[in-house]
Amino acid sequence: MSQATAEGESAIAPASAIPSYLQADNLGPWGNYLQQVDRVIPHLGKLARWAETLKRPKRILIVDVPIHMDDGTVAHFEGYRVQHNVSRGPGKGGVRFHQDVTLSEVMALSAWMSVKNAAVNVPYGGAKGGIRVDPKKLSRGELERMTRRYTSEIGIIIGPNKDIPAPDVNTNEQIMAWMMDTYSMNTGSTATGVVTGKPVDLGGSLGRREATGRGVFTVGTEAARHIGLDIATARVAVQGFGNVGGVAGKLFSEAGARIIAVQDHGGTILCEAGLDVPALLQHVADTGSVAGFAGAEVLADEKFWEVDCDILIPAALEQQITTQNAGRIKARMIIEGANGPTTPAADDILQERNVLVLPDVIANAGGVTVSYFEWVQDFSSFFWDEDEINARLVKIMKMAFAGVWQVAQEKKVSLRTATFIVACQRILHTRELRGLYP
Ligand code: NAD
Repeated sequence: MSQATAEGESAIAPASAIPSYLQADNLGPWGNYLQQVDRVIPHLGKLARWAETLKRPKRILIVDVPIHMDDGTVAHFEGYRVQHNVSRGPGKGGVRFHQDVTLSEVMALSAWMSVKNAAVNVPYGGAKGGIRVDPKKLSRGELERMTRRYTSEIGIIIGPNKDIPAPDVNTNEQIMAWMMDTYSMNTGSTATGVVTGKPVDLGGSLGRREATGRGVFTVGTEAARHIGLDIATARVAVQGFGNVGGVAGKLFSEAGARIIAVQDHGGTILCEAGLDVPALLQHVADTGSVAGFAGAEVLADEKFWEVDCDILIPAALEQQITTQNAGRIKARMIIEGANGPTTPAADDILQERNVLVLPDVIANAGGVTVSYFEWVQDFSSFFWDEDEINARLVKIMKMAFAGVWQVAQEKKVSLRTATFIVACQRILHTRELRGLYP
């Protein structure tokens, strides 16, 4: 019973009151995540009493990031770090530099990290960070100053045992090196374990750069086996040809698949005979985009979703597969390399049309799995060889996927809901075991 004030109103907010920032933007990524949680609650049994935990990030930090620009002016950028849940261990999740970053997006990405980390059973909670900026418009010096100031601002909540950032869209090994150095300068000793995805010479792990794409390939191959799809003859379309899409495309093509269409921020290309993937990766490294690649047709961007393929790999940004294009997709299987590329309404259309969706929260978990290996190696100062890392990664991915596949069959739910069931049960079980403080 809540206390009443003299005016007869409750002095404390009712337990169900939702803070306004959690309600805002219900159609955005955070709204999509909330709908996914609602679908899992009926499957949580007694643990459902803790489900509200999943709908509220534990901690949200918004920071002003002022820097000197090369032309002598001062620019201000808005940065975020959100820790969604830390019941199972420190927060863990990437940092994104993109002009469209919003709080809703970072909240959703942090929540998907909680689910993903629990799905592959690594001992982390979920977190994510970002700066609203187009980093392509910054000089190298400006980029370094912005990264360092942002790291300093979020330094009050990150740390090797608190919250460990990693690369995401438009961030890479160099940015992780600057983040590690800044945190170390501020704390007075070299703390390699504060970030993962670092250069190997700074305590990074072999195999980390390829890990997410390798995980996409591993679960894709497992799922293909279940539905009788032969990878060696499959036609694949990939959206986003960066870290995730580029590596996944390379591994599928090495396994015999034809990569017939690729889209990135610069445009869309098509080649029915199969693109020369190593040459395309070199072209992207040289020019920054797949646009202008010799030996491929140019396709209108919207036509990408209609390409006649067996496997579609969205590996760019969220909310790409919507009610506008889900009905036109021809693939038998979608492997979500990106986080949140499919809206819940599009998910329903795809399920009705019998398109198998391998959800982000399991399909792209390879990156954080090797990040976990990196963190363990940093703590023990003992480094493993690449074969061992890849073997352990493949083992974890196959085991996690097999568990999720079984739950999906038993409960007759989508693989997304099955992954949420497995993961949310793990998160809420630890929540219950730890109890509420005080
Ligand atoms: P990246 O910066 O290396 O590549 C991003 C790619 O997306 C680029 O090819 C870019 O051109 C393309 N892109 C950007 N805007 C686009 C648009 N409007 N239309 C089409 N393509 C567009 O980033 P990444 O690390 O490969 O991340 C891609 C996705 O994978 C993101 O959703 C990220 O959260 C997710 N992810 C990344 C990792 C990782 O380890 N890097 C792990 C898990 C999930």
